[in-house]
Amino acid sequence: MLERNLEEKGFEMTYVDEVFDWVKEKNPGEKEFHQAVKEVLESLEPAIEKHPELKKHKMLERIVEPERQLMFRVPWQDDQGEIHVNRGFRVQFNSAIGPYKGGLRFHPSVYLGIIKFLGFEQVFKNALTGLAMGGGKGGSDFDPKGKSDIEVMRFCQSFMQELFRHIGPDCDVPAGDIGVGGREIGYLFGQYRKIMNQFHAGVLTGKGLDYGGSLIRPEATGYGCTYFVVEMLKDRGLDLKDKVCTVSGSGNVAQYTTEKINQLGGKVVTLSDSNGFIYDPDGVTFGEKFDFFLELKQIRRGRIKEYADKFNVDYYSNKRPWEIKCDIAFPSATQNEIEVNDAQTLIDNGVIAVGEGANMPSTIDAINLFLEAGVAFGPAKAANAGGVATSGLEMSQNSLRLAWEREEVDKRLHGIMVNIHKSARVAAEKYGAPGNLVVGANIAGFMKVARSMMAQGLI
Ligand code: NDP
Repeated sequence: MLERNLEEKGFEMTYVDEVFDWVKEKNPGEKEFHQAVKEVLESLEPAIEKHPELKKHKMLERIVEPERQLMFRVPWQDDQGEIHVNRGFRVQFNSAIGPYKGGLRFHPSVYLGIIKFLGFEQVFKNALTGLAMGGGKGGSDFDPKGKSDIEVMRFCQSFMQELFRHIGPDCDVPAGDIGVGGREIGYLFGQYRKIMNQFHAGVLTGKGLDYGGSLIRPEATGYGCTYFVVEMLKDRGLDLKDKVCTVSGSGNVAQYTTEKINQLGGKVVTLSDSNGFIYDPDGVTFGEKFDFFLELKQIRRGRIKEYADKFNVDYYSNKRPWEIKCDIAFPSATQNEIEVNDAQTLIDNGVIAVGEGANMPSTIDAINLFLEAGVAFGPAKAANAGGVATSGLEMSQNSLRLAWEREEVDKRLHGIMVNIHKSARVAAEKYGAPGNLVVGANIAGFMKVARSMMAQGLI
């Protein structure tokens, strides 16, 4: 159909168009997956041209098809004794360069299309880290919000009752994502250990420090994203000092992005959740404000509005923070939270850089607008790779049965982020798109996985 439309309009169908058309037909209704595939495939055009063997080996068709997709029933009982049934997912996307690796998301919006978009992105992100990790992702449409600890535990146990047979330290290593933090990883690990009667520390990452976790893992995505933005600024002769930053979200990524920005002399003026955002023009500074924020989210699991009530700052209900004038935007909540009109507002207000802490937070049109406007744009699969990279470091420590010091892990994380930025910049230049880190990150990640798949034969 697309082919005919294009031909009628006098366009020639490219290999990328053909594969994208095929993906849409084969995966109906999975709009987030289509979006992620489109963004990657379009940026691969220069690589396809330069390496004809990619088409010969049908690398695009092979790379967009997960190696395995699992869907399962997760029954659990609430505190009133009522029975609920949720759906569990694990998509094992690609293991050409290492065991499947990627987080679990518990959120009511989860369905196969979300898990596949996240798994697909994860393949390239993990390749970019330089560590031996394939890509996968999983989760459930379970909503942990408002549930008691015991209900969350029952759900996690039931989820693991099925998942355990598909994972393992050398096979598939899940971690956290939206709705899955230290508490959930603890319950999941406990159930896995009980079923297996084995202490396989490396089967999950994001564990507590007392039982195999790594220092800096909770901080890693936010710290890493900030390090990445610092590298982009350096290329322009700038730094973070005194820069006004808007951060969205108030979960794991937003918390540690805020911490690192503060440490490096920037000022975070917004935080948000799915109900609205707070605007604190003086910044979420260290001391009383930052401590209150962490306690509110990590211990009391409250809503961000309480920050506005406590410190008497503005709260905007049902809005995103992008209308606030800033130098740097750090979208750190969820997918498609920066649409084209938000991007235009940010540009009109003089934004100089965007660091994607969340996965796919900007729509394709928004990304194109940023790039056209010359904004330094750090795409998610590069900018937020610090989390999975440090998960990789947690796996290494588990294998060595050692625990590195905080400084050691942070130094390695920093080195990895500097390298990811460099690889993306170098690939962008090599493939004729200097400064375009979307093209650079996609091609650098893709080529590593594609080369490995070709070397390993048709499997
Ligand atoms: P958390 O669950 O800790 O926090 C998520 C935050 O985003 C919450 O403030 C939440 O608000 C908000 N949010 C979630 N869904 C929506 C929505 N539909 N609309 C508006 N706000 C929303 O998750 P993380 O901080 O771990 O993850 C945030 C993003 O970062 C995700 O895109 C994730 O995939 C990505 N990421 C996370 C990594 C990690 O190491 N944790 C690694 C790499 C990427 P509310 O409480 O109202 O739901």
